[in-house]
Amino acid sequence: MLDVLRKIVQEVSVAPDLESALNLIVRRVQRSMSTEVCSVYLFDPCDQRYVLMATEGLHQESVGSVRLSAAEGLVGLVVDRAEPINLENASQHSSFKYVESTGEERYSSFLGVPIIHHRDVLGVLVVQQKDIRRFDESEEAFLVTLSAQLAGVIAHAEATGSLAKNDAKDDKAVIDLRFEGVAGSSGVAIGIATVVAPPADLASVPDKTAKDIDKEIASFEEALKLVRRDIKVVGRSLAQRLRAEEQALFDVYLRMLDDNALAGEVIARIKNGNWAQGALREVVTEHVRQFSMMDDPYLRERATDIKDLGRRVLAYLQEAGPTELDYPPETILIADELTPAMLGEVPSDKLVGLVSVHGSSNSHAAILARSMGIPTIMGAVDLPLTRIDGRELVLDGYSGRVYVQPGEDLLAAYRDILKGEQEEEAELKAIKDLPAETTDGYQIPLWVNTGLLADVARSLDRGAEGIGLYRTEVPFMIREFFPSEQEQSQTYRKQLEAFHPRPVTMRTLDIGGDKALPYFPIEEENPFLGWRGIRVTLDHPEIFLVQVRAMLKAGEGYDNLRIMLPMVTSVHELDEANRQIGRAVRELQEEGHDIKRPLVGVMVEVPAAVYQVRRFARRVDFISVGSNDLTQYLLAVDRNNPRVADLYVSYHPAVLRALNFIASEAHKENVPVSICGELASEPGGALLLMAMGYDMLSMNATNLPKVKSTIRSVSKEDADELLAEVLAMDDADKIKKLINERLSELGIALPAQPVLPE
Ligand code: PEP
Ligand code: MG
Repeated sequence: MLDVLRKIVQEVSVAPDLESALNLIVRRVQRSMSTEVCSVYLFDPCDQRYVLMATEGLHQESVGSVRLSAAEGLVGLVVDRAEPINLENASQHSSFKYVESTGEERYSSFLGVPIIHHRDVLGVLVVQQKDIRRFDESEEAFLVTLSAQLAGVIAHAEATGSLAKNDAKDDKAVIDLRFEGVAGSSGVAIGIATVVAPPADLASVPDKTAKDIDKEIASFEEALKLVRRDIKVVGRSLAQRLRAEEQALFDVYLRMLDDNALAGEVIARIKNGNWAQGALREVVTEHVRQFSMMDDPYLRERATDIKDLGRRVLAYLQEAGPTELDYPPETILIADELTPAMLGEVPSDKLVGLVSVHGSSNSHAAILARSMGIPTIMGAVDLPLTRIDGRELVLDGYSGRVYVQPGEDLLAAYRDILKGEQEEEAELKAIKDLPAETTDGYQIPLWVNTGLLADVARSLDRGAEGIGLYRTEVPFMIREFFPSEQEQSQTYRKQLEAFHPRPVTMRTLDIGGDKALPYFPIEEENPFLGWRGIRVTLDHPEIFLVQVRAMLKAGEGYDNLRIMLPMVTSVHELDEANRQIGRAVRELQEEGHDIKRPLVGVMVEVPAAVYQVRRFARRVDFISVGSNDLTQYLLAVDRNNPRVADLYVSYHPAVLRALNFIASEAHKENVPVSICGELASEPGGALLLMAMGYDMLSMNATNLPKVKSTIRSVSKEDADELLAEVLAMDDADKIKKLINERLSELGIALPAQPVLPE
């Protein structure tokens, strides 16, 4: 059964459109369960009813015309209860509703299971039979499992289908098509979607209208020529070692590229208007689908060959294509997985928004976006990446929503919010040079987190008093190999120089987790619990030492460098790192450099560190809490996974108690304690942290003025009271509500909610 299930899901997931996907589902389910009827009903948001979309067994004329509201008929009952209904004699049930056009009076038994996606009932999958009998447990389990697996595929096909409808000229355009994601960086953006695909990743190549069809065909043919040449070279070089039948495979391979095979189809699609890369994706996907459905294992394997050929041709097309995309003046960059390198590719004056299909609000791409102040949505998992390029979008970075093809009313509502944002920004400028001081005179330094060089000027402009976290891995991530000591030193010096005499805290390389270096791949099942941060650099002293030497040299003459160690879980890691830093200092002094040992600090970002704060404190000059990781590890919630984004709550009582405990433990050793996780960037979080006694808050530059304005409008006494109240509470939602109430009493504007059209 598992095999049947896998096959159905695989086949449906590559169906070209919603209609074929649904027809496939009903056909396959009916056959594999040997039932007389299988039907699928889907919710139609326009008339708020469930529509019969496909059936095998009922009258075909009823497709599209049978419409049931929730709680109407047995289908409605399944929706209402959001659970399977299994009946041996359906017509006896009080909810049974006879719909003449279907011809279902002949069938007695009924099993309906809900299709649920992100807690919404998308539709119902029904099987029916003439015999009066209950479907047995294994049949029910099969249908429930299938429905759970198909829900995402159906949601995706529905979304793609709505966009396709817009393209059909005679159809009424669908406006305000909404996709849900996770709020990644606040703010609103209105712009044009530009999809970027990573190299040789066929699945994320977007459809684009070919500007010059002949040119597209020519570059496709050139790419084919190069791939043919490559395959011949490989075939020749292996000729000695291969048997005749294996050699024949190379010929099969080459023939697949012939004009009357793949190539001909691609050219036909280019002539229909798609650009070469999009046409290639369409043809390869279709062939892969056909081959992977075959029962013969030899033929099934050909799917892999076609995919491989497709990737090779794509790589040449991408290489020959324009290296610089033509970015519209208001670009909303969209990627399957947004990377820091992608952010840097768009000219900053054109980039207004970002959307990533993968990742969540504490993924590093989102953190960088916040520091740059670019509205961002993460984890928009249903966004049809291949159909979105070039369309107008509204991006709501507060609620995590993207609207495709916004109508005039929606645009007007969001333009109002944009205007409000600009006014608020102008007001906050006025306090740039004032201290973060409460109404009763308590001051707390506000520093920033940086990673890109562009952050530096922006941070200074927004009144930062120091850098509390410079993520040194960011410059490593946007390169093709490890930077040399000299290159690193030059990069670091720019940060130290620009901020001098203000302090700059440089964190040693924190790779692993969601921060991969393209030239140093770390393949792990569980990367956030794997080889990360200090664990990597202590295993590679050459990388660590080069980096520390580069930092020390960069700081020569400035005296504002602080070094910070990430992901430390035990004192021996700290002792080892301290020893290496001492060695680097000595070596450089011996080489004649005028440097002294900088302040060295440790991050508290794993639960083990929370309970060793005093021991750590005795070994370092400062402690800085990485609340992003600490939250994920305390709550066992992957910071990168949009599916559990709702569970990643900074105001969870366990997180707040840990933060409070860390501050008091560090102070027992008279060691300053600060925070550099994103919680410090939230006005409410900043107030609580100040009340806990944190000596400095380091945050993204975008939110710094807002945090400052919040602190300037409260008394320390108010903040202490709020903290006491919050620490006595045991529910994160209530805590958040209380904090928001206090903030609005203080007149601190919460993110504006658009008044949306009905
Ligand atoms: C943290 O974990 O809170 C932190 C500041 O480090 P990063 O987000 O880079 O992991
Ligand atoms: Mg961290």
